[in-house]
Amino acid sequence: MSPATDASDLNGDGFRCVNCGRRIGKLFVQYSPGNIRLMKCDNCKAVADPYIECEFMIIFIDLILHKPKAFRHLLYNVLNLEKIDIKGISLKSGLMNFILDAYRVSLLIRSKGSRDSSRSSLEFTWTCLKVFLNVLIGNLIFVTVLWIGIRVLLRLNYHICRYREILLAVLVSSYFKMFFLAMMVWDFPFASIFIVDVFVLSSNTVAIRVLTQLMTSACTVLCLCAHSAKFLASHWLLHLL
Ligand SMILES: [Zn+2]
Repeated sequence: MSPATDASDLNGDGFRCVNCGRRIGKLFVQYSPGNIRLMKCDNCKAVADPYIECEFMIIFIDLILHKPKAFRHLLYNVLNLEKIDIKGISLKSGLMNFILDAYRVSLLIRSKGSRDSSRSSLEFTWTCLKVFLNVLIGNLIFVTVLWIGIRVLLRLNYHICRYREILLAVLVSSYFKMFFLAMMVWDFPFASIFIVDVFVLSSNTVAIRVLTQLMTSACTVLCLCAHSAKFLASHWLLHLL
């Protein structure tokens, strides 16, 4: 855990300094429309969140570059759990993740079977059910392993690091799955699926690290275990069903 943080910083919601992760009351003071002054962090003395004045593309590039500052900005200062209702956002991003996962599994199934277009509707229904079960069980295993791992590593009681925070961090940091949308339109090598998986894993690692303030190695092992469990469950189900 960073020396700049203490246990109280893990607990609860609120804005954060993107540099050190310390909680801060407000990020800026607005004097008039378009005229704001960014607040400085009492702990590190730097501007608490310079991303407020940045274009979305700058933030997106920093997210791709896995900068923890960008993840803190997104997880704590944009998707602030205390200020906005995240149920809608979580539901939509969860649904999008589910659909993209389903597309990934359907690609794996298609790679194993024939491309015969004259399949019966019964077979098509069975394939859809297989994809649905695969994604559902895979994600349940993934979230369970992640949740248990974080609780064990942080020796948490239930209130410190809540389920919705973990879920939101995982959903937001899985944005690399959007690449599957491009795969729906253009042909990519089959190995692209696993490259996306690796990027999602590394991005999840940074998000969990920002959320829990654990060491990078611990977060890497944790995410690796969760993704491996999901991967193995998915492939076991593909062979079983
Ligand atoms: Zn700071």
